[in-house]
Amino acid sequence: MNGRPRRALVVGASQAGLSAARALRRLGFDGELTVVGDEEHLPYDRPPLSKQVLAGEWPPERTALLGDADADLDVTWRLGRRAAALDVERRTVSLDDGDDVPYDGLVIACGARPRTLPGTEIVAGVHALRTLDDAVAVRDAVAGGARVLVVGAGFIGAEVAATCREVGAEVTMVEPLPVPLGRVLGEDVGRVVADVHRDHGVDLRTGVGVDRLETADGRVTGAVLADGSTVACDLAVVGIGVVPATGWLEGSGLALDDGVVADATCRAGPGVVVAGDVARWYHRRYGEHVRIEHWDHAIAMGAHAAATLLAGDDALPFEPVPWFWSDQYDRKLMLAGRVQGADEVRVVDGSLDERRFVALYRRGDEVVAALGMNRPAPLARWRARLADRVGWDEAITD
Ligand SMILES: Cc1cc2nc3c(=O)[nH]c(=O)nc-3n(C[C@H](O)[C@H](O)[C@H](O)COP(=O)(O)OP(=O)(O)OC[C@H]3O[C@@H](n4cnc5c(N)ncnc54)[C@H](O)[C@@H]3O)c2cc1C
Repeated sequence: MNGRPRRALVVGASQAGLSAARALRRLGFDGELTVVGDEEHLPYDRPPLSKQVLAGEWPPERTALLGDADADLDVTWRLGRRAAALDVERRTVSLDDGDDVPYDGLVIACGARPRTLPGTEIVAGVHALRTLDDAVAVRDAVAGGARVLVVGAGFIGAEVAATCREVGAEVTMVEPLPVPLGRVLGEDVGRVVADVHRDHGVDLRTGVGVDRLETADGRVTGAVLADGSTVACDLAVVGIGVVPATGWLEGSGLALDDGVVADATCRAGPGVVVAGDVARWYHRRYGEHVRIEHWDHAIAMGAHAAATLLAGDDALPFEPVPWFWSDQYDRKLMLAGRVQGADEVRVVDGSLDERRFVALYRRGDEVVAALGMNRPAPLARWRARLADRVGWDEAITD
C-alpha cells in the first residue's frame, strides 16, 4: 500500500469490526469506510445473549452497540451480505450477491461459528447460542418450564444452564470431561463449578458424551448418551465450541490454521489485518501464535488492527494479557492471563469451599494466570500485574 488507505473495508459487523471502524476514525482516517456483515443486525453485544437476553430481563434492542458517540462514524453498512471470496492481489472482496468491493485496507473480523452435532443441523428444537436470533429463539422455547438439554459444559453451556435454571426450566447438562471446564481451569476449580450447578438443580452428567439425539416428526425429544442412559428434552442447546469463520478465505493465499494467521502486529497480508475470535496472531510474550475468544480481546484487537493498517511499517506488536469473565447464578468467574499448559494451580485467597477465591496458575517459575470467583477487585489487580512478568515465589508470599 502506498501511504494511508483511502478505502477501508471491514468484514464482520460485530465487536471487533466495530472497534476497528471506530479506531480508524479516531486515528484520523477520513476515507470511505464500509462494513460488511452477514447478519441483518447492526453490531450488538454477545455476552448478554446467554445472560440477560436469555433470562428475558433485557429486550434484544438493549444489546445494540452503536450509540450517540458513533454519530460521526460515517460507515456504509452492507448488512445481510456475506463476504464470499478475497482477492489479495486485486484488493477486492466479492460478496454473496455478486458485488465486488474494492479496498486499500481490509480488516478481517468475521469471528467464529458454533460447532454443530453432526446430522442435527435441521432438527427442530436444536439450537446454538451465538447470535441474537439464537438467543431470542432459545428464550422463547425455554419460557414455560421446558426441559432443556445442554450439550457441553464449557462457558456458553454453563451460562445457558444457569440462566435456564433461573427462569424455572428443568436442565440436564452433559459433558464428556470428568468436570466442567477442567481442561481450562483445572480439576479442582472444575469440581466447584460442577457443585454450583448441581446445587442449583442441574442434572449434570459428566464423563459421558451424547451418542445421538432422538427425534419425533423432525423435532428433538431427547438424547441417548454414550453409556446408554437417556435424557428426555423439549429443546437442546449445543455448546461444544466454535470454529473460526474462514471458509470464504480458502484459496485467497492468506495463511489459515484454526483462524487467520497474522504477525505480531495483526497483519495477515499486504493491506490486510485481522482481529477478534477469527485471528491467530503471534503473541510475542508467549512466543507462539494464539487465538482468543474473549469480548475484551475483540475490542482491543480491533483497535490495534486498525492502527496497524494506518501505521504501515511503524506498526506495533499486540501483546495483551487475555481477560475474560463468566456469570453463572450469583457467581462471577474472572480470568486474567493464559492458563494453557499450567504446571500448578494454587488458591491464594479465600477457599474453594466458600466458592469465593483467587487461584494462581504457575508455569515454570512464573505466574501465568489468575482466576477469581466472586473476587473482582483482586482480579483487576492481577490483570494489571500480569502485564509484567510475575515470579511465582514472590506472588505466593505476598
Ligand atoms: C452467548 C455468548 C456469550 C458470551 N459471553 C462472554 C463473556 O461473558 N465474557 C467474554 O469475555 N466473552 C464472552 N463471549 C465472547 C465474545 O462475545 C466474543 O469473543 C466476541 O463477540 C468476538 O467478537 P468478534 O467481532 O471477533 O466476532 P463475532 O462477535 O463472532 O462477530 C463476527 C461477525 O462476522 C459475521 N461474519 C462471519 N463470516 C462472515 C462473512 N463471510 N461475511 C460477512 N460477515 C461474516 C458473523 O455473522 C458475526 O456477525 C460470549 C459469546 C457468546 C456467543
